Amino acid sequence: MTSASDRDLLTRLRERGARLGVDVNGVLWVRKQGVRDALTDDLAAELSARKAAIIALIQEEDAAITWRIEAMNERISANGGRVPGEMVAREGIAGTSGICRSCGEAMKTQQTRKCVFCNLAALRVPEQQLVHRD
Ligand SMILES: [Zn+2]
Repeated sequence: MTSASDRDLLTRLRERGARLGVDVNGVLWVRKQGVRDALTDDLAAELSARKAAIIALIQEEDAAITWRIEAMNERISANGGRVPGEMVAREGIAGTSGICRSCGEAMKTQQTRKCVFCNLAALRVPEQQLVHRD
């Protein structure tokens, strides 16, 4: 089970410059990327105490991004290998306020056309295409 305070901890760590991920074996990794003292002793202790929940949160995020990347790659394949002008995860999503135009899911902020997961997926799709190119 994860809670709002687990989400809050993850957000605070990221705001301090820490990058976190979960490897294929389900092991949490933390990269500070040159940001000094990103992980204070207090934060490290908090992270340690809530490690299982943080791992679950990151895995949820990874899954949310992965299905979008796969959907976008399928659209590129269906488009003869050309990247569409606007990369979306699902076709035919109406432009309604508060709804992501790419996946159709509700967004927490209304500042962008696409949700965070769709934006992250769209950034990674060209890389995936290059990786798969012979
Ligand atoms: Zn979306």
